[in-house]
Formats: sequence, C-alpha cells, structure tokens
Amino acid sequence: MKDERQSLTILNTPVHAVTMAETLARTQKFMAESRLHQICTTNPEFVMAAQTDDAFRQILWQADLCLPDGIGLVVASRWLKKPLPERVPGSELVYHLAELCAQEGWRLFLLGAAPGIGDAPGIAEEAAAIFQSRYPDLIIAGTYAGSPDPAENEAILKRINDSGAEMLFVAYGAPKQDKWIARNREALPTVRMAIGIGGSLDFVTGKSIRAPRWVQNLGLEWLHRLIKEPWRWRRMLALPRFVLAVVVGKLGSRGAGGQG
Ligand code: UDP
Repeated sequence: MKDERQSLTILNTPVHAVTMAETLARTQKFMAESRLHQICTTNPEFVMAAQTDDAFRQILWQADLCLPDGIGLVVASRWLKKPLPERVPGSELVYHLAELCAQEGWRLFLLGAAPGIGDAPGIAEEAAAIFQSRYPDLIIAGTYAGSPDPAENEAILKRINDSGAEMLFVAYGAPKQDKWIARNREALPTVRMAIGIGGSLDFVTGKSIRAPRWVQNLGLEWLHRLIKEPWRWRRMLALPRFVLAVVVGKLGSRGAGGQG
C-alpha cells in the first residue's frame, strides 16, 4: 500500500505515522480481511503506562495500528526528527468510521461507556441514535455498557457474536479497553476491526465537551480537559513525565545514534 509509512518508536512504544485519510484507507483494507484487527488510540498516557505495564506494552506492539492520538506525540516526534504527519484523534475518527460503516453496510457495535439510569438510555445508546441520525444508512448491530470485568466476558461475547457485528468500538478507557480487545481477539469471529475509543462517546453525546477548535489548534486540548475534568490531574501527570522521559531518552541516546 502506498501509504505504509514507517512507525515511530517513542520510549519503546510504537506509534504509526498515519494521517486521518490513511487511517480510513487502512480501515478498508482491514475490513476486507477475515480476522479481527486491533486499533489503539495512543497518547502520552498510553506511552507512560506502557513503561510499567508489560502486558499493555505487548498489546500495543501486537496491535494492527497505534494511532497518534495526542499532540504530545506529534510534538515529541518532531523533536526526535521523525515527524508524525498529524494528530489522529479517536474522538474525530469515530464519526468517520460510523460514516464509512453506513456507506459500506458494515454492522457497528458500541460497547462500554456509562449505562442509563432507570429508563434513561445509556451513553452508547444515545451515541448510536446520534450516529444514526447523521448517517441514516448506518446499521447499529447493538449497544451495551457492560463492564471490562472478566466475570462479564462470556456474556458480552455472546451479545456481540449474536449481533453479527463487523466493527466494534470499545469505550472502557485505556488500558482496560485495549486489554479487553486483546484477550478476545480470537473469540469474535464476525468482528474485523475493534478500536479502543476512550471517552469518545461522551463527546458524541455532549456529556463531555471538546475544546474549541482554536484551543485544539494551539495544541492545548489536554489543558481544556484538565480544567473541565480536574479529577484527572493525577493521570495527566503522565504528560510532564512523558516530556521528561523523551528529553532524557534523547540526550542519553545521542552518542548511540538517536532514539526511534
Ligand atoms: N468506562 C466504562 N467502564 C469502565 C471504565 C470506563 O464504561 O469500567 C467508560 C467511561 O464511562 C468513559 C470511557 O470508558 O465513557 C472512557 O473513560 P476515560 O475518560 O477514563 O478514558 P480516556 O478517554 O481517558 O481513555
């Protein structure tokens, strides 16, 4: 394929150098093959988590695509002189994938995000309705909040397999969602692409609000999220730790021919 660029390695973690358009081109290729392809939406928090979680790091290495979802990765890649072409945010990709599913007739299943309380629809159901109103031909194979707890695994597999889903969004947050997909790779025979989408469905439904475009363009979406969701501060310490680790790694490997 023309767009098969080299992937970049940041702190022993892979990131694929793809644009949004190339991601959609690869989606077509993945969906034409009969096995499940795993996609991860990598950001600096993933990279830092992978430093101490070997199982997670292995999952990232085994994934079919690790998207550059995080401005920190794009900035670091420039500094490492192996620039990533652009950021590919999972929260935007979900719309493009839903649209592609509608065009191609692929059945989409939304797993995870908060369940409804009482009779109210859950986030995944609400997001499914929003996608369907935007893309009327979209076939929603199913939605289910469930839990990444292994005790629920078999019941969730049955739901998805009975639905005949071909594309699967998993919203359990990283690394739980990515571990969920990895451990079930062989148990979902109809699914050809499964992607961990974090809080994307919260953005689709308006439960969380993305930063204005100008803030995104300044590379400050992470700061907006920290202000809106201050309880994330401890997790977001991963960002300065990431910057420090990249700088130290680069300086330390200068004599050895650079990182990557
Ligand atoms: N979530 C869930 N079950 C869990 C943990 C998380 O459904 O056990 C959902 C949560 O409701 C949210 C999504 O996973 O919609 C992403 O969570 P978070 O914001 O922590 O992830 P991030 O976007 O930072 O990866």
